[in-house]
Amino acid sequence: MITDNIRRRDKDTCHWCKEPVNFENRHGGKAGCFDFIDNGKRTRATEENTVVSCRHCEQERREPVAA
Ligand SMILES: [Zn+2]
Repeated sequence: MITDNIRRRDKDTCHWCKEPVNFENRHGGKAGCFDFIDNGKRTRATEENTVVSCRHCEQERREPVAA
């Protein structure tokens, strides 16, 4: 799983706000998730283009992209 490598690399810390995230708690602002560095590209996730993100930042960044 590349997600394991990403978590180890980013040390379960949000790439954007540098706050520790919690992958055990899937709810709340500090729940851990993954985000593409380049939000505009819906490409296949790789270790290079994917980072650990907290739920808050992930949703902030998921503003409407032109369909
Ligand atoms: Zn964050």
